[in-house]
Amino acid sequence: MKVADMRPFRKVLEQLRGRLRGDVSTMADIALGTGSTQDHGPSSTKPVHMDDLGAEAFDQEFTLSLMENEKDTLQMIDEALARIRQKTFGSCVECNGIITKKRLEALPYASTCIRCAEKLEKARW
Ligand SMILES: [Zn+2]
Repeated sequence: MKVADMRPFRKVLEQLRGRLRGDVSTMADIALGTGSTQDHGPSSTKPVHMDDLGAEAFDQEFTLSLMENEKDTLQMIDEALARIRQKTFGSCVECNGIITKKRLEALPYASTCIRCAEKLEKARW
């Protein structure tokens, strides 16, 4: 892929990374109870509902597992940005074939072409 063609993807990846980083740290604060959500000041607009208390343990577990996924995504984004720096972005890391633009537009941090992705998916099962 031409360097000029990588540029828009770099922008998308950087935006995505910034958003995920923000979300991950916010969720960590909530899950670990260290966030400002515990400290409802007079300006708080979030009333505490009794219904929420029963689901708290479940929510915490769910939030933490969601964070794991986001960390994986963050790593894939970082790797994609590294490939842009090395100018190998858009090439499949498995077969060195071309990852189609359509696939990259849907999944800008994809590291493999569709064929290899399907192969890897099958190998995992
Ligand atoms: Zn491939």
